[in-house]
Formats: sequence, structure tokens, C-alpha cells
Amino acid sequence: MNKGLELIKNSKNIVFMTGAGVSTASGIPDYRSMTGVYQGHENPEYLLSHTCLMREPDKFYDFVKGLYHPEAKPNVIHHKIKELEKNHQVSVISQNIDGLHDLAGSSQVVNFHGNLNDLYCLSCGQNVDTKAYLVSDRHESCGGQIRPEVVLYEEGLSEEAIQRSIHYLSQADLVVIVGTTFKVYPFSGLIDYRHLDSKILVVNNEPISLFDEYTFVQTAAERFFEVIDS
Ligand SMILES: [Zn+2]
Repeated sequence: MNKGLELIKNSKNIVFMTGAGVSTASGIPDYRSMTGVYQGHENPEYLLSHTCLMREPDKFYDFVKGLYHPEAKPNVIHHKIKELEKNHQVSVISQNIDGLHDLAGSSQVVNFHGNLNDLYCLSCGQNVDTKAYLVSDRHESCGGQIRPEVVLYEEGLSEEAIQRSIHYLSQADLVVIVGTTFKVYPFSGLIDYRHLDSKILVVNNEPISLFDEYTFVQTAAERFFEVIDS
């Protein structure tokens, strides 16, 4: 058995910290990579900003619509993480905003940057489903502006997401970092809240820069998860 699988097997409480590499296997492009959806767009930081949403909602809507992949389904990584709940205490802290861990049925998920499928009307506060939003960004019943509950540029992270992440990390004996170069702060800074005795496993195409020691499995995440036996 490879070292990574062994670590998972022997751990009681596992936190998965997941990034874009987990979603690409579902056909969702990495929106930060050069080949991803940012290419060909000018100034994505503006298009995904609070200012753009407020001042130029049409421009915002036009760009954000392109981030939705309603046909995307959870892949083997999401499913195996869910299955591990049978014999382990499992939680997930994800940078991804596609909600695929929730869709796979994982019970303890923190969507650190929000979830595109959590939508609400800025005027009346009502929740709106994804289908309706992809038809129009105006709330049918009141005409208000609809927005996804994702963290835009200029906006703060959810305090609840931070607290829950810290809680999970402080309880775990294994932290598995999957499909992320771990360069986005403050997500990467969460690692400092892990339990001091916990181990770190990194499953990624390339090594990541981390102060702490870690076990490294260099592979596409789906290759690694395919062979996990829950
Ligand atoms: Zn409304």
C-alpha cells in the first residue's frame, strides 16, 4: 500500500482541504490558471468584485454566469471522501465554489469562499435556485438583484466558515491537502490551526511550499482516490 493510503487508513479524524484540482476532474476549469476561464477576460478581479456587482450588475452577471457548470457532477474524489465517513470522522474545507462536495453528500463541508448555488435576492433576502438565476439575475417576484453567496473581491470571509474550519483542523489527526498549490491566503494559513500532533498528506501534481513536514503523493488527485478503499 502506498504511504498516503496507509496514512488515511490509520487515521480517525481526517480533514480534507481541497482546491481546483478536485473540480477539474468534473470538467470544471481552474479559474485561476491561465488556461481557465480568466483567459480572454480583462481584469477578473474587477468583474468578481463587490463594486462591479453594485455598479455594473450586467457586467458582473455576464462574467459570473460563465462560472456555472450545471452539468458537472461529483467525481471519484468527492465520492471517496464521502465514503470515508463510514469508518472515519471526516470533514472538508474547500476553496471551490461549485458545491460538489455537498452534492456528493459529505456531511461536514466548509465552502471557504462560498457556494455559487447559494443564491439570494439583495432586495427581499429570499433564496433563489440556480436555474432561475441562470435565466435572469432579477428576482422574479420582486425585481431585486440576485447574487451568489460567494466571497467577492473587497468582501470579507464568513466568520462562521473560519471558525468551523479552525474547529475541524484542531480535532483532526490527519490533514489531507488535495488538488491545490496552496498559495491562496488566508485559506493556506488555516494549516496553522491544525492539531500539533496531526500529520499532513499532500496529493497534488506538484509539491507545495509548506513550513511543516508532509508526506507527498505526486499524482492527479483522481488517480489517488480511485484506489482508496473506505
Ligand atoms: Zn426579491
